[in-house]
Amino acid sequence: MILEKFNLRGKIALVTGANTGLGQGICVALAEAGAMVAGAARRGCEETASLIAPGQFHAIPADLLESNAHETIVAETLARYGRIDILVNNAGIIRRNDIADFTEQDWDDVMQVNLKSLFLLSQAAARQMIARQSGGKIINIASLLSFQGGIRVPSYAASKSGVRGLTMEMANELAPHGIQVNAVAPGYMVTNNTEQLRADPLRSRQILERIPAGRWGVPADIAGACVFLASAASDYVTGITLPVDGGWLGR
Ligand code: NAD
Repeated sequence: MILEKFNLRGKIALVTGANTGLGQGICVALAEAGAMVAGAARRGCEETASLIAPGQFHAIPADLLESNAHETIVAETLARYGRIDILVNNAGIIRRNDIADFTEQDWDDVMQVNLKSLFLLSQAAARQMIARQSGGKIINIASLLSFQGGIRVPSYAASKSGVRGLTMEMANELAPHGIQVNAVAPGYMVTNNTEQLRADPLRSRQILERIPAGRWGVPADIAGACVFLASAASDYVTGITLPVDGGWLGR
């Protein structure tokens, strides 16, 4: 039955950046679809936990700017649940500045959280999926700036284009192991990530006018895409970056 293919009952999911924004929405969606969810985040995950049935969510404090954070996150998930079936690399940061003033620190931090830690977590999750011969799902949260250049966000654009390329690369290598690797590219969503844009009346209006759907997105808007890519319904889908953008890219 087709609906059964979307069911995540019995699956173990690990989601980074679980405390707020899109990551919180993804945790709630995967849990509603039946998965047990380990949520890693820099800040407390009490709010996310409060939105999920008791016992179905486990918070893991971790700072992805620290070099071995990926090992701690994977080890704690395995200690708690014994395996990882679904990894969602959602944690991400953005730094805005003109190119002339952009600092090396802002370059390094964004690349570390958005791209390097995404690779290291995927590698660690894939290793245990391969060892268990279980297959699995890796979902990376990309961006419209995986397709476009943006402005005043050089490290973000580079990291998110990198996410799209790496998604295809990992999909190719891991397909023989039954592991599908895909990305979701959210459009302009109402979260902390876009706070500065939304606070700027001109930029905010310009962005809204260009979105065919006529509104900014909210975390629940990417839930369906994430559940689909986490489920057996997408077993023949790999290497794609799926925009969930209210029509932005088609315009
Ligand atoms: P957000 O700022 O609300 O959330 C970012 C998440 O990343 C938080 O949970 C935060 O704890 C986590 N994080 C940041 N730095 C971390 C670190 N050093 N260690 C561990 N966790 C860390 O923003 P969001 O919009 O929910 O962002 C989620 C993802 O979606 C990001 O990858 C972002 O680039 C992407 N995205 C967002 C939009 C948007 O319009 N909001 C658009 C495209 C892509």
